[in-house]
Amino acid sequence: MAAGADVTGWKTGDAVTFDSTVYCGQCYFCRHGQINLCDHRRVLGVSCEAYRQHGAMADYVAVPQHILYRLPAGLGFERAAMVEALSVAFHSVQRTPLALDSTAVVMGTGMIGLLIVQVLRYAGCRRIIAVDLDARRLELARQLGADQVLKSDADDVIAEVMRATDQRGADAAFEVVGIRQR
Ligand SMILES: [Zn+2]
Repeated sequence: MAAGADVTGWKTGDAVTFDSTVYCGQCYFCRHGQINLCDHRRVLGVSCEAYRQHGAMADYVAVPQHILYRLPAGLGFERAAMVEALSVAFHSVQRTPLALDSTAVVMGTGMIGLLIVQVLRYAGCRRIIAVDLDARRLELARQLGADQVLKSDADDVIAEVMRATDQRGADAAFEVVGIRQR
């Protein structure tokens, strides 16, 4: 590890993590606090053409100091590696109006989906329904707090969600797959 010549406030050996979005801090969106929309953004580990940046699967990675966050003492790197992913889950649940009697559907039980299941449980959501194609992921979702799991190639997801909610439908749904429907 090393700090660049103009780095202030950080020194070699500091335990840090970083926001994967490298933003400029100058453009319209940055000045309005919407750094995720920065005109000049690069996102580490994201490969779409608009903001491609090599990821951190490397021995060393260089990032600007303004995206660093200091890790609390005692937090191991293995856990710290989950901070960004867990932040995505927290943020998405925090933006969603939920009540204690809410039913939420989580479409997709990859890492982010499983984290959302856990955050929903933590937030007090009454019923969590997880949906995926992979039975092993669904079993994990159940262990981590999902009340009901649906296998989307075997169950009639819409009918089951309607049944579970007295035909009202879910109060909230999280799309955590990220692929276009064909
Ligand atoms: Zn910007």
